[in-house]
This record gives sequence, structure tokens and C-alpha cells, in this order.
Amino acid sequence: MKRLGCKIIQGKLEKELKEKTESFIMKGNRAPSLAVILVGSDPASETYVRNKHEACSRLGFLHFDYRFDEDVKEDDLLALIDELNGRADVDGILVQLPLPKHIDEKKITNSISVEKDVDGFSPFNVGRLCLGEECFIPCTPKGVVEILKYYDIPTAGKKVVVIGRSNIVGKPMAMLLMQKGFDATVTVCNTRTPSLKDYTLDADIIIVATGRPGTLGSSMCRNDAVIIDVGVNRIEDKSRERGYRLVGDVDYHSFEDTECQVTPVPGGVGLMTVMMLMENTFESANRRKK
Ligand code: NAP
Repeated sequence: MKRLGCKIIQGKLEKELKEKTESFIMKGNRAPSLAVILVGSDPASETYVRNKHEACSRLGFLHFDYRFDEDVKEDDLLALIDELNGRADVDGILVQLPLPKHIDEKKITNSISVEKDVDGFSPFNVGRLCLGEECFIPCTPKGVVEILKYYDIPTAGKKVVVIGRSNIVGKPMAMLLMQKGFDATVTVCNTRTPSLKDYTLDADIIIVATGRPGTLGSSMCRNDAVIIDVGVNRIEDKSRERGYRLVGDVDYHSFEDTECQVTPVPGGVGLMTVMMLMENTFESANRRKK
């Protein structure tokens, strides 16, 4: 098996983006800036927000963090987003998902101004992605494309299977790879797909985003397939100080004796997602500069 580690790609992209940011600021522009809104104290969300915060600091971006208790009113969040939409010193706005049940997630994400929707979740951005027009590409699918590029894995004419059809990963992933320029033949599977194996056994590239550990093992793949594991799952592990370990949606070890190329978890797609958020924030700052 070849491990498609992403730390090296993250390092390369971060260095490039840092240089771009320095030159952007040297030309008299304000540093790119990201506002992050976190509701409640879900440990995974806290970690994701911390990672974004740290990436902003490393790159020289400004970041504004807003924290709310679990019982925050929807109207208070909408009022903050409205204020951030109007602020000239904010380039990107991100609401960390999931939100508590009493809050309408769709209403919140749709209230973010299209020009500051650096997550690329708004209907406008999704529509433009579908049409193959310039837009903020959702960070995780954009990161997957960077992995394929870095490791010289072609997509044109290849059979790609995406397992999972969520609005933030599966659907935009499929949409992106079917565009002109990527030119893959894409199949998207879901929980009603009767036998995943019927599709995965024939695939050149398999992208797994189900949130279920063990969704894909080597017996379901060709011996030379490329496997991109988007999943991040916390599994109880008493041998670790923190009481858990992270695993993907793929049975990584089952690939050890194959010729497959597989992204690890951790050290894989997750690193790319944060970098792509930073790239989208830079892009927003660049588009909005005076
Ligand atoms: P989601 O909204 O829960 O969607 C999961 C999708 O997988 C659904 O479409 C579901 O099908 C499908 N699915 C679940 N089990 C399946 C199975 N056995 N066979 C076929 N399809 C199956 O999840 P998500 O937000 O896309 O996230 C997926 C995973 O990626 C999670 O582990 C999440 O933590 C991780 N993630 C990682 C990053 C990163 O940066 N690395 C970013 C985002 C998400 P139905 O539609 O039929 O229910």
C-alpha cells in the first residue's frame, strides 16, 4: 500500500499561501480575516475551531471568534451574521456545524453573505459549482482535489465512486469531479445502495464520506485503487490519555498488503480542509480588496 499522507501537502500549500499573504499585505492591503462562530462546547467542534484559529495565526490572517452557549437564540445568531456581513474588515464567515436542534441550520448558513461564504455552502455557491462557474468550492472536496493533484492521480476518464451524498462532502465532491477539466465518470452511493461492492470493485478512485468506520475494506476494491478517506470518527480507546482515538471510514489496515494508495486518518483529508478554508478566505480578501 502507498500512504497518501497530507502533512507534506499542507506544509507546501501553507508556505505558498503565507508568501502570497505577505506580498498581499506589502501591497497595502489589509490582512485577510475570518470570523468563526461556535455554539456550545462539543469537543470535536472545539478542536476544529481551534485548528482554524491556529491556521489563521500561522498565516498572518486576522480572526474573530464568537462563542455562544448551547441555548443561544436563533435571532441572536442571525443578528451577529447580519453585522458581520456588513463589516468591511471581515472577508469570511463560518458557522461551525452542527448547531443545536432548536436552531435552523439552513436558515443560519443561508444568511451568510454570498461574498463571505468561504465554506461554499450557500445555494448560490452550490449553484455556481453545479454550473462550473467561479465560486467558493466547499473546503473538503477542494482539499481532496489537491491531494489527487499532488500525488499525480489523474481523474479524466476514470471511474470514481463517492460513498455518501451529504451537502457538504458527497454531493459537491461528485459535482466537482464530473466538471470539465476533471472529467471523471462519477457514481454516488448512499445507504440505499444495495451492494457497495458492485460499484467499488470497478472503481479507479473511491472517496468515502459516510461517518461510519469500516465502510470500505480492501476486499471491496481493486488491487490498485486510490482510496480517499474523508471520515473522522472518535472511537473509545482507554489506552490513550484522552480516552479515544480517531479513525476514518475506511478499514485502513486491510489495505496493507495491496497496491492501493490510501489517505490516512489522522494526517489525511482533515489537514487539507483547514488549508482550503484559508485559501477561500484569501480569495475572498483578494476579491473584496479596494
Ligand atoms: P453525513 O451528513 O452524515 O452523510 C453521510 C452520508 O453517507 C449520507 O449520505 C449517508 O447516506 C451515507 N452513508 C452512511 N453509511 C453508508 C453506507 N454504509 N453505505 C453507503 N452510504 C452510506 O456525513 P458528512 O457530513 O458527509 O461526513 C461524513 C464523514 O466525513 C464524517 O465522518 C465526518 O466527520 C467526516 N468529515 C470530515 C471532514 C474532514 O475535513 N476530514 C469534513 C467533513 C466531514 P444517506 O443519505 O442514505 O443517509
